[in-house]
Amino acid sequence: MQNGKIGVTTENIFPIIKKFLYSDHEIFLRELVSNAVDATQKLKTYSSIGEFKGELGDISVEVALDKEKKTLTISDHGIGMTADEVEKYINQIAFSGAEEFMEKYQNQSIIGHFGLGFYSSFMVSDKVELRTKSFRDGAKTMLWSCDGTPEYTLVECEEQRETRGTDIILYLSEESVEFADETRIGDMLKKYCRFLPVPIKFGKQTEWKDGKDVETGEDNVINSVAPLWTRTPSTVKEGEYNDFYSTLYPMSEEPLFHIHLNIDYPFNLTGILYFPKINNNFEVQKNKIQLYSNQVYVTDSVEGIVPEFLTLLHGVIDSPDIPLNVSRSYLQSDSNVKKISGYITRKVADRLQELFNSMRGEYESKWDDLKVFIQYGTVTDEKFAEKANNFMLLKNTEGKYFTLEEYNTLVKENQTDNKKSLIYLYTTDVDGQYRFIEAAKRKGYDVLVMNGQLDNHYINWFESKNQEIHFVRVDSDVVDKLIQKDSNNTISLSSSQQEILSPVFEAQLASDSKSQYNIKFEAMDSTDAPVVITQQENMRRMKEMAAMGNGGMYQFYGQMPDSFNVSVNGNHPLVIEIFGDVEKAYGEDLKGDNSNIESAIKKQSSLNEVLSGKKEEEITTEEKDMRTELEQNVEKLKGVKSSKLKELGSDNKLVKQLVDLALLSNGMLKGEQLDSFIRRSVELIKK
Ligand code: ADP
Repeated sequence: MQNGKIGVTTENIFPIIKKFLYSDHEIFLRELVSNAVDATQKLKTYSSIGEFKGELGDISVEVALDKEKKTLTISDHGIGMTADEVEKYINQIAFSGAEEFMEKYQNQSIIGHFGLGFYSSFMVSDKVELRTKSFRDGAKTMLWSCDGTPEYTLVECEEQRETRGTDIILYLSEESVEFADETRIGDMLKKYCRFLPVPIKFGKQTEWKDGKDVETGEDNVINSVAPLWTRTPSTVKEGEYNDFYSTLYPMSEEPLFHIHLNIDYPFNLTGILYFPKINNNFEVQKNKIQLYSNQVYVTDSVEGIVPEFLTLLHGVIDSPDIPLNVSRSYLQSDSNVKKISGYITRKVADRLQELFNSMRGEYESKWDDLKVFIQYGTVTDEKFAEKANNFMLLKNTEGKYFTLEEYNTLVKENQTDNKKSLIYLYTTDVDGQYRFIEAAKRKGYDVLVMNGQLDNHYINWFESKNQEIHFVRVDSDVVDKLIQKDSNNTISLSSSQQEILSPVFEAQLASDSKSQYNIKFEAMDSTDAPVVITQQENMRRMKEMAAMGNGGMYQFYGQMPDSFNVSVNGNHPLVIEIFGDVEKAYGEDLKGDNSNIESAIKKQSSLNEVLSGKKEEEITTEEKDMRTELEQNVEKLKGVKSSKLKELGSDNKLVKQLVDLALLSNGMLKGEQLDSFIRRSVELIKK
């Protein structure tokens, strides 16, 4: 019999264990089962090199729960330990000192604390027993026992084990009775142990019989010992990848593509990554990759290990080379982790390139789902962006897909403006912007569909990399001005006629704190729409950025009113007709008002001429008063004219109708306005 103290300097290490690992008690099972698996694997190795000559026999690991006694036993048929080995591995090595332990684990994320191993059993137990018999000839079964103080006993066991191996018996503590539950243990085994390389048994299989579950007598093996990622890619059939996906994520839609990772130099890494169907819930898709270390589940939060955009992928990564017992910030700066993350990025890019090259049709058919992922990678990861250049696609309103290069070639000739910029026209809403799209097409332009979640980020990124290309939304100006070309379009309304019509249209589009309208007359085709309302590209983008929660300068734009350009077609017969009506209605008044304004301006300018020779301080008070008076007079007369015109405008149903039609085609006509538009239209039809 041997009594002793576990090699720690603090009186009692166990309160520390409990405190630091509090949040993650359940990992004790992972630690003990993986020790059992390790011991079994070592035996297999010894057997293969001839150091162990006996029969391997049953090598499974068994987890057994005794609910009455509240004990949980983990048994293996591995190498076992001699008394000396227990002394060495359990009593001394496991904790070389409490201080070191404190240093190592303080302030660290608990997930992935490998190396705490065997002692994690004290998180949930009052007492732990270890019965073990070494595989070496003549070994005796030893019983080690410890009740949670640094004292332990080590004796030869009365009841000798028949076979080599180890039983770890946990006497669950009062606070941890939750673990004396089959479902709980079953779930934990499923989570941490489902892909361990040695069969793990837990209870018996059950089947549904006579309205209840009955045991069949068959052992219930909870794991599959050779999960798909451990196999050589060339031996795996296509369908197996999707089958594996549905074991990992039951009820999920089929993934788009998979990548089988398999590398052994300069680090070890295997795994299978899937491109899931993202649909619209971007965030929920994150953090689905499971990280394993030699088939032991570690975590499913892989930030820091894989680049941000890859967290959108699903699947499994298994690497013993990822340091697991360190904090996240350390992980991010670890050079091994950097290499691994670089490798995965490269692999993912290569695979996409290969898919694109070898089956473009299928690639295109899945593009709408793949796109968000590739754009995410592009805007966040330079290296990926470089590669993605060759398999990034653009889709136009006809549903055709182009590589960046192909698209460039397609539109270069027709869509280069007079400043040598290449303009890519796009729509965010094929139905809503239909008229603008059609107008662009009639001009022979191509229009891209950019309605994805990350499209505006991607557009910004793309423009920053390609200074000579600009994205312009089809509804951001009238079609002739979307792509500025040297044109000799003329406008039939003279500038004084435009001056008269401006307040007439303004009357129907009152600016308020939310929206501002700027009336402009354009030399459009007489068959184009009479009035077109557009929102300038840059301003709209700034506002969109603000709406997406971007602060800084965007916030400033967010508070500004929406500013719209109202382009009145100066060549449209209806517009010219309206001018005629207005002129007629205003009649003699107009002439009078105009000549009043003219003579007021004349007086003003002759005074200004006199005053222009003088310095400001030489001007007399009377002269100053006179100047102000004349100024006010001109303003007043103009105001009179403009309010008369506005009055005419607000009474003019045709103007109202044209403005409403323009609003309507932008989806901006709502509520009461829409209702009165409909009534007015009916009346107009009746006439
Ligand atoms: P780690 O597993 O990280 O080395 P542990 O504290 O879990 O740390 O275990 C310490 C050592 O005890 C192991 O390295 C192993 O040599 C021995 N050991 C633990 N469990 C078993 C077991 N079931 N069978 C044989 N040896 C074991």
